[in-house]
Amino acid sequence: MLTVDKVRKVFGATTVLDGVDLRIRPGEVVSVLGSSGSGKSTLIRCINGLERLDGGRITVDEFDVSKPRELAEARKRSGTVFQLFNLYPHMTAVENVMLAPVEVLKRPRREAEAQARAILASVGLSPRADAYPAQLSGGQRQRVGLARALAMEPRYLLLDEVTSALDPEMTAEVLAILGELARGGTTMLFVTHEIEFARRISDRIVFLDAGRLLVDLPTVEFFSPAGGLANPRIAQFLSKMH
Ligand code: ADP
Ligand code: MG
Repeated sequence: MLTVDKVRKVFGATTVLDGVDLRIRPGEVVSVLGSSGSGKSTLIRCINGLERLDGGRITVDEFDVSKPRELAEARKRSGTVFQLFNLYPHMTAVENVMLAPVEVLKRPRREAEAQARAILASVGLSPRADAYPAQLSGGQRQRVGLARALAMEPRYLLLDEVTSALDPEMTAEVLAILGELARGGTTMLFVTHEIEFARRISDRIVFLDAGRLLVDLPTVEFFSPAGGLANPRIAQFLSKMH
């Protein structure tokens, strides 16, 4: 289980995360919705141990991200894909994907390469495995980013607006793969503005507003008039998104 307990994060005078509680059990898909600036990326960065917490605790399968000795284990279990692809430009797709398995997991290169090619095939990139990032479309690059995260066989996949830099066609390509992963039982924390897609694939939806987690509801309840929609802030957010 991934647990976020009463997490606080402050930047200067701004409280960016204000007592956030969240639990993600194996197999669950949880989407995080919220306006720009509500703290979604900061939450992902905190789970990655990229930000020091000002309060509370985050554990990934019991490994506490605030404890230097446990952070590496916690990170191995949570694969992250960000909005921008951050691929190494001087490495091909397959080299990008096999890098961490070789460097971090100490896999033999040949084995890592075979695995990387299999994962690239699973995201529809077999024919582009030996291309460099500059030779790939945005949607293809983001699929390499996803393959790179999957190559570490994470227990939890953290996705931070992975389609927001893509045009609609490329967005559809990437969402199709995320949909397959979700149906295949991959555990996901999915930060997104793709409301309709989130509605289809999520077990639960949480809504962040100015650093507070306003609701954490099963998807059907989130979108029901007596559930999430009864919250004026959420109703306003959803009406602007359509
Ligand atoms: P979201 O991903 O929901 O758009 P963010 O987590 O990126 O929101 O940001 C939440 C708030 O924290 C914003 O007000 C943002 O300006 C602020 N913030 C994020 N990172 C930093 C930082 N490194 N230093 C100062 N303020 C930051
Ligand atoms: Mg963000």
